[in-house]
Amino acid sequence: MAFSLPNNILELLRCPICRSRLDIHDQELVCRNGDCRGRFPIKDGRPILINEQNSLFKIADIQQNDEPPAPPRSRLRAALGDMLPHLTNNFRSKHNYARLTGLLLERAVEPRVLVVGGRVSGAGFEVLADAPQIQLIESDASLGPRTQIIFDAHDIPLADDSVDGVVTQAMLSYVADPWRVVDEIHRVLRPGGYVYGEAGFVHRVTEGAYDFTRFTHLGLRRLFRCFDEIDSGAVLGQATVLVWSLHHFLVSFARGNRTRMILSGAGRLLFHWIKYFDHLLLDRPSAFDNALAYYFIGQKNLNSRSDAEIIATYQGQL
Ligand SMILES: [Zn+2]
Repeated sequence: MAFSLPNNILELLRCPICRSRLDIHDQELVCRNGDCRGRFPIKDGRPILINEQNSLFKIADIQQNDEPPAPPRSRLRAALGDMLPHLTNNFRSKHNYARLTGLLLERAVEPRVLVVGGRVSGAGFEVLADAPQIQLIESDASLGPRTQIIFDAHDIPLADDSVDGVVTQAMLSYVADPWRVVDEIHRVLRPGGYVYGEAGFVHRVTEGAYDFTRFTHLGLRRLFRCFDEIDSGAVLGQATVLVWSLHHFLVSFARGNRTRMILSGAGRLLFHWIKYFDHLLLDRPSAFDNALAYYFIGQKNLNSRSDAEIIATYQGQL
């Protein structure tokens, strides 16, 4: 069985139920704890390490379903999609990933970074992924082009203090208990390790029934209360909120795929220019409380920030 993970990462894997070590067999990983005896299959070299007692995901479903193919696009649709302007201009994520990469390389020669919820690359992620010294462990609860290991982030199947950094981009809204997920991120980070998190605020439901929570800037800060803040702020601002709202407003009149495609294209042509106002508005206190999404870069600490300390960092304007 050829794993998609190198041996030094396989040694860090733990049972998602009891956190004991795992024995690697031909087609599965087996928990060494005699009271647990959890068995976890391997699909196409990717371990499926899910604690089903605490997860919405079932191992059998993941095993049975093949990786979803890219949706078929007609030539016309593909050409239009490439020609039409985009609605988002995410310059901040790229900047943040460059900062995170610098921090990680100052910390270790070959830092190890866990990506939680990364079956596809998020905006700006290539800055981190292209740094040859950084060893990525890319995970998700489902198969995808970048998934190396499948788990539910409520039970991260890694040993304590095992990675130098954790990235979770646009994922925390889509887990039932984001506070538990961040506790898990804190546990697997080495002392002084770095976290990068992004989460939506004024953002429509995009994951159907699996879309649970939105965060204000300070809500996100409080979620990461056991971390020292290095930087935080809006990642996409009020201009992006407006352009996406107008686009969704237009598309909501569609009754079928064809009119949806036409209205979506029209929305991109009509409204795309609004996104550039984020260069002006992203950090303004008067616009800060209406951002599409916020980010947080932090360093693992054993002490928790108090709520009084957190509210003292409010950056908006009532
Ligand atoms: Zn176990």
